[in-house]
Amino acid sequence: MTASGISPSAVETFAARERELFLARNPKSVALAERARNSLYAGVPMHWMADWSTPCPLFVERAKGARFYDVDGHEYIDFCLGDTGTMFGHSPDPIAKAIAEQANNGLTTMLPGEDAVVCGELLAERFGLPFWQVTATATDSNRYVLRWARAVTGKKTLLVFDGCYHGTVDDVMVRYRDGETVHRSGLVGQAYDLTQYSRSIPFNDVEALEAALAKGDVCALLCEPAMTNIGMVLPDPGFMQKCRELTRKYGSLLIIDETHTISTNIGGCTKLWNLDPDFFVVGKPIAGGVPCGIFGCSAEMAEKMLASRKKAQEDSHGHGHSGMGTTLSANALAMHCMRANLEQVMTQAAYDHMLPLAKRLADGFRGLIAKHDLKWSVTELGARSEFQFCPVSPRTGAEAEAAFHDELQMAIHLYLINRGILITPFHNMTLCCPSTTAADVDKLISMLDQAITELLAIPG
Ligand code: PMP
Repeated sequence: MTASGISPSAVETFAARERELFLARNPKSVALAERARNSLYAGVPMHWMADWSTPCPLFVERAKGARFYDVDGHEYIDFCLGDTGTMFGHSPDPIAKAIAEQANNGLTTMLPGEDAVVCGELLAERFGLPFWQVTATATDSNRYVLRWARAVTGKKTLLVFDGCYHGTVDDVMVRYRDGETVHRSGLVGQAYDLTQYSRSIPFNDVEALEAALAKGDVCALLCEPAMTNIGMVLPDPGFMQKCRELTRKYGSLLIIDETHTISTNIGGCTKLWNLDPDFFVVGKPIAGGVPCGIFGCSAEMAEKMLASRKKAQEDSHGHGHSGMGTTLSANALAMHCMRANLEQVMTQAAYDHMLPLAKRLADGFRGLIAKHDLKWSVTELGARSEFQFCPVSPRTGAEAEAAFHDELQMAIHLYLINRGILITPFHNMTLCCPSTTAADVDKLISMLDQAITELLAIPG
């Protein structure tokens, strides 16, 4: 038996049936997948797009609001929402309008416009940090913040929580195993030893946190306020406050990455829980789905960043480079869309709609778990909720990982896809957006009920 309590053979019988159904239902996706194999590595434009639960990629024709449509004409209710990239719905009208407005006015010039100033003001007002930078993606924001943190503290070691994900930043690709920091498994082409300047510790472990910081070499703790990438793991009451208190005590910085947890509150968990970070990162939905990332810093950091940049310039011979920034960062299109997003899309009204629906969904999951007497649990935070194959919500990344039952997760996801519902791949996360309805939520619950009923009816 597995962590989920469902037998592997029942899952395989169920999944095989669903794979057949998918292939029969989606002839155009199947044909495009075959064609794609001739020109795209792994048959997809980014290799992980081949890792979904479907036997071949599901090709999308268009998306709007909480729905998308595949090339075979099926409609889907989308609870994945581009894994938060389109948390406020697909192509919100103000973003479509902003794209059209900018389309003929220049997309990138390497120079700022008035939109940049307005965005800076809006970000400062919303998130409480006074100074901002704009990047192309949350990955880049984290990468640059880490450089700044090392520069201003003069310390090199990055501290992260086991099971974290902060984008494809080399330095965070570590895990905690038997008291040691080790490389995350699966890394391709890793040339140098990441454990030299990165340290991984379990989430919610104040003792480990203090011991790791007490070594005195930590430039920063980079963390999400709740882990969201290894299944969801919520902080114990007061844990995030301890992160702030202890980083200060040992002369390390606190970087809060709200790329996913921005779904909790209009000011993120940072505002809601008063986290007072030195740096703050968001990406994904900040420009309404157009590629863009941001990071904010305190006034103290801004001053130290100026000083460290000056010093780096003085120390450099010839043409120096800060090691940060890409050409398309803060391009005119992204800035215009971020402005429209902050002003018209990412509003309190949007959150007021999303949050109760996510609660309805989490309650629905709990109802199903009770009805089928499963030893599963539900973890919820703002507009996200997740069912996990363990009896109580996990407290660490390792506990969350131990509850994985990949074959079951993928079989359930595929069953839902075959019935017009998409949830976030690789774990069981769901998001509600401003266009999601109560009927959409109820449909997911009833389809999941049907899936579980069918699964449990298969002899194990
Ligand atoms: N931070 C967090 C918390 C994330 O979940 C992710 C992506 N899942 C990133 C950063 C990186 O975002 P992107 O891939 O858009 O650069």
